[in-house]
Amino acid sequence: MVVKCPSCRAFLDDSDNFSVGEIVYCTECDEDFEVTRLNPVRFRSLSSSNSEHAEFFDEDFND
Ligand SMILES: [Zn+2]
Repeated sequence: MVVKCPSCRAFLDDSDNFSVGEIVYCTECDEDFEVTRLNPVRFRSLSSSNSEHAEFFDEDFND
């Protein structure tokens, strides 16, 4: 499963071993994201600079 940054779409990881609560870091936009759900992977931005609550879906998920 290829995981892309929900913010800038940069490649983050290619792993089947994500777990809820895991933190992934994007070097492109310098943000941290917490995995909130699996299948499909769903992220929550942990960036303190973003005051809005933001949730992202992996739009590229294909069964
Ligand atoms: Zn990014």
